Formats: sequence, structure tokens, C-alpha cells
Amino acid sequence: MTKELLQDIADSQMVLIGIGKEMEESYQGMKEDTFYGPLLAQAEAEEDSAAIIQYLQCHYVRRHPDHRIKKAYETLTALLEGKNYFVLSLSEDDYIFNSGLDRERIVTPCGGFRKLQCTERCNAEQESLVTDDKVILQVLEEIDNCNGDLSSVDFPVCTDCCGILWFNRIETPGYREEGYLTQWEKYTKWLQGTLNHKLCILELGAGMEYPSVIRFPFEKVAFFNQKSVFYRVHGKLPFLTEELSERGFSIKTDAITFLSEEGNQG
Ligand SMILES: [Zn+2]
Repeated sequence: MTKELLQDIADSQMVLIGIGKEMEESYQGMKEDTFYGPLLAQAEAEEDSAAIIQYLQCHYVRRHPDHRIKKAYETLTALLEGKNYFVLSLSEDDYIFNSGLDRERIVTPCGGFRKLQCTERCNAEQESLVTDDKVILQVLEEIDNCNGDLSSVDFPVCTDCCGILWFNRIETPGYREEGYLTQWEKYTKWLQGTLNHKLCILELGAGMEYPSVIRFPFEKVAFFNQKSVFYRVHGKLPFLTEELSERGFSIKTDAITFLSEEGNQG
């Protein structure tokens, strides 16, 4: 991490963070794993395979969190301590909710593993999302104890159509955006309040996935706020537009490595 960034965060009144897919859990190694491999193969044969795979991924990420990603969030938490910040994240792995960051200052428009929903096939009127963590913890426990046989796991079902509930994630058919809208409103209000304030913008690993959520709007915010500085960190796509060259820093390092470099605690 650069000295300039630490100084700019210290000097700023507000800090806007964007987290992209580069910071996200990759689930690499699940297929080869002796526990998850056979379960994934069984899931593939099921009608609702994509939903069941979500549960297996949720189990994987909660039981075997990636230490580098965890560490990256610890660094970020330390970096933002005492600051007026907001984090907009495209990650769906929920590491951010298990970090020390303030949940009230986070919005995750792609969803994650904290809420369940039925799909677009369901006839039920906009039924509310299932947000009871106990339901999810129960499934995870059943997966722990399933002895390699998914048929012994009772996946939660919709009270209306009896189909398996999916996680409230962007790839779920009929994704229910109300899962993040309350936080989104807070975010847009907070963002409006950044104008004329010394703002430090830090974009971490946001490439061209959903560029209209982080990448393009952040450039615009930086462009219109003359008191802002903009750091774009990405392993492959760190490039900045010409207009931002004076107040912008382009760092060609993947976001997790960037946050785990030595000497980043300031
Ligand atoms: Zn349903």
C-alpha cells in the first residue's frame, strides 16, 4: 500500500470504497476436495442444482474462509477506523459482514448468503425474504452431518410453491433487489453528502463486471468533486481516464495483494 494513500485517507473527511470481483472468493479447489467434490456431483444431478450448489458454496466459505481475503478485510477495517466511510461491494461471499466494518456503512447490491428467496417461477405475491440466520445455520449443520449424502439434507422450501429456496443473490432467477435497497438509499444519501468535502475514493479490484455500479459512477464522482483523490487498484485494469490523471492514482496490483503488502498498517 502506498504512503500517499495512507496520507490521503488521513487527510480526507470522507472515504468511499468500492470492492470488485477481484476480492471475491473463487471456490477454487471445491471440486477436487474429498468432502465437496462428491456433494457437487450429486447436486449436479438434482433439478434445482444451481440452488443446491449455492448452499454448498455457502458452507464452503463459512467453514473454510480464505485467509488472504480475511486478512485483506482486516487491513481495510484498520484503514477506515474512525473515518466517515461507505463501502459499495460487488462481492457475494459475505467476508465483509464478518469483518470489523460497520454493517450500516456497507451495501452489497449483488446479494450474498444472508437471505433466502423464492424464484421467478413462484406465483406468490412478493413474499418477504427469509432473513432468519437460524434457517441457514441449520442447513449448514445438516451438510456437516450428511455423510456424503445430500438426500439427508432438508433444504428450506418456499411456503407457497414448496420449491427449494435460493439465496438472495444476483444470479438467482428473479433476484429480489429489495434485499439491498434500504442500504442503497443510505449509500446514495451519503454520496450526495460528499460533494465539497475532501473525499478519498479507493476502488479495489473492480473490473468490468457491472461497471455501471462502481467503475463508471466512481469516475464521475471523482470528476465532479474537485477536492477528491481517486485510487484505482486492479491487477489487470487499473487504468484511469485522462480527466482524472491529476487527482488519480492507478495501481496495477490485485486488490488482495495490495491490502496484504507489508507496512500497510500505517
Ligand atoms: Zn415459491
